[in-house]
Amino acid sequence: MDQERHLMVCTGGNGAQSYFECTVDGCGRELIFDHVAIRLVVTNPGKPSALHHGSTGLVALAGGVQPGEAAA
Ligand SMILES: [Zn+2]
Repeated sequence: MDQERHLMVCTGGNGAQSYFECTVDGCGRELIFDHVAIRLVVTNPGKPSALHHGSTGLVALAGGVQPGEAAA
């Protein structure tokens, strides 16, 4: 079992979007969940080999999350 598991937590938001950040030092994965468009936008892929999951159950962070269009 060498699959790393990283926990992502919601660090903020404005009602329309929520920001999630990986809690593991050195990873740096960040993404935005857009409540309006119902999609994830990965703004920093972090460590691609790690399995990322969230604490809220709001978004499915594990498995086949596709890198979205980069936020400009
Ligand atoms: Zn991570």
